[in-house]
Amino acid sequence: PTMAHSKALLVLENFIGGRFVPCSSYVDSYNPSTGDVYCRVPDSGKEEVEAAVKAAKDAFPTWSSKSPLERSQILNKLADLIEHDLEAFAQAESKDQGKTITFARTVDIPRAVHNFRFFASSILHHVTECTEMPAMGCVHYTSRAPVGVAGLISPWNLPLYLLTWKIAPAIACGNTVVAKPSEMTSVTAWMMCKLLEKAGVPPGVVNVVFGTGAKAGEALVCHPDVPLISFTGSTLTAQRITEKSAPHCKRLSLELGGKNPAIIFDDADLSQCIPTTVRSSFANQGEICLCTSRIFVQRGIYSEFVKRFVAEAKKWKTGNPSDPTIDVGALISKEHLEKVRSYVKKAQAEGARVLCGEGVDPLALPPGNQKGYFMLPTVIAEVKDESCCMQEEIFGPVTCVVAFDTEEEVIQRANGVKYGLAATVWSGNVGRVHRVAHRLQSGLVWTNCWLVRDLNLPFGGMKASGIGREGAKDSYEFFTEVKTITIKH
Ligand code: NAD
Repeated sequence: PTMAHSKALLVLENFIGGRFVPCSSYVDSYNPSTGDVYCRVPDSGKEEVEAAVKAAKDAFPTWSSKSPLERSQILNKLADLIEHDLEAFAQAESKDQGKTITFARTVDIPRAVHNFRFFASSILHHVTECTEMPAMGCVHYTSRAPVGVAGLISPWNLPLYLLTWKIAPAIACGNTVVAKPSEMTSVTAWMMCKLLEKAGVPPGVVNVVFGTGAKAGEALVCHPDVPLISFTGSTLTAQRITEKSAPHCKRLSLELGGKNPAIIFDDADLSQCIPTTVRSSFANQGEICLCTSRIFVQRGIYSEFVKRFVAEAKKWKTGNPSDPTIDVGALISKEHLEKVRSYVKKAQAEGARVLCGEGVDPLALPPGNQKGYFMLPTVIAEVKDESCCMQEEIFGPVTCVVAFDTEEEVIQRANGVKYGLAATVWSGNVGRVHRVAHRLQSGLVWTNCWLVRDLNLPFGGMKASGIGREGAKDSYEFFTEVKTITIKH
C-alpha cells in the first residue's frame, strides 16, 4: 500500500501490564469480504511474550488473593461494558472475520458477554470435598487455588466468543492470563482491552499479545513461567503444542477439529430436521468446529430428504456480510477458500455428485465484494466413506449426504473417522436415540436439535477432537490446582 493508504489502516497494539504498547513489526490483516488489507496486527515474538508473562506474574499475588465475589463483580462489569458496545463489536467482528453481521450480532458478541456473566456467577457456587475418618481421628478436605499465569490461544472462526470462553474462567478462578488471538482476527480482542481498566480489571491480569502462531503462540507455549495452556484450534497445531510444551510438563486443554455426523432415521420430523441440518452445515460459512459435514440418511427417506435439503440450502443467500439479509458471508482467507474449493474438486474427481453450490450454481456478488472470499453452500452426494471429503475437516460451507440402511451400520460409519467432537441424531424413537447416543464416539450428541448448549455441562471432543473438557465445573478444575488436606484432632 502507498503511504496515504497505509495511514488509513487500523493499527493494533499489544496490551501488556494495563498499557497499549506498539510492536516493532506487524502483519497484515485482510477484510475477507473485499480482499483488502485494512488492519495491521503486531507480529509479536519472544520479547513481547516475555514482557506480558512478567506483567501477569506480577499481577498474580494480588488478583489471586481477591475473593471470588470481588472478581465476579469485575467480570460482570466487563460483560456490561461489552454489551453496551455490542453493535460496534459486532460490526468489527463481521468486518474482520467475514461472518455476517447478523451472526455477529446474535451469536458471537452476545455469547462473549454471556461468557463473562456465566463464569462471574458460577465461580460463586463451587463446593470442595470433605471426608471423615473417625477411627483415625481425621477429616480430609480439598482446597482449590488458581495455578498462575495461563496461556490462552484461540482460533479465527469465533474470535471474541472463544477467547472470552477462556479468559472468563481463567480470571474468575484467580489466574492471570496472556492471551493470543488468531493473527487473522485480532480486532475485537484489542477492543475488549480498551474496556478492561473501566471494568476494574487490574493491570497485568489480562494481557493480550498479538501475532502469529509460529512466533507469538510458540513463545507462549514454550515459556517456562506459563504452567497451563488452553488452546482451541486445529489438531495439527495441537500436536505441535503438545510437543513443545512436553519438556515443561504443562497442563493442556485442547479443543480441536471435528468431522461431525448427522444421523437421520426414517421416523425423523423432517420439517424440523431439514432447516436445522442446513443451519448446522452452513452457519458461519461452515466455519464452526461443531458444523455437520457428513449427513447419513436412512435409505427409505433418502431421495425425499436430498430434494428438500438442497431446496432449503439454495435459499441461503451468499453476499456482503454487512447486509442483514445475507446468510453466508466470506470465508476467512483466500488460502482457506482455495482449500475448501479443492475438496469439492477432489470429490468430483472421485465420482461424487455436487447437487448445488460450488461450480454448479452462479455466484452473483455486489461490485464491492468481487475480490472477497465467497463460496455458495455446497451439497455433495454419493461420496465414499473413505474419501477425503468424508474423512478430513473441510471447515467451510460443504456438506456430504449419503444413505444408510441399519442402525448398527450407521453407528460404525459415523464413528469411522479420526475425530469425535459433535454428532446429531434425528429420530422420534426415544429408545433408539438413547442407544445410538451411547455408542457414538463424540463429546457432544444432540438429538432432534443442534447447538443447544448449557454452559454448565462439559464441552469438548474425543479422539483427535481434543483433550479435556470446558464448562462450569470442568473449566474450574482446569484453571485451579487441587490440594487434599488432612487434619487430625
Ligand atoms: P490453528 O490451529 O491454525 O490456529 C489456532 C491458534 O493457534 C491461532 O491463534 C494460531 O495463531 C495459533 N497457533 C498456530 N500455530 C501455533 C504454534 N505452533 N504454537 C502456538 N500457537 C499456534 O486453527 P485455526 O485455523 O485458527 O482454527 C480452525 C480450527 O480450529 C479448526 O480445526 C476448528 O475445528 C478448530 N476449532 C475447534 C473448536 C473446539 O471448540 N473444538 C472451536 C473452534 C475451532
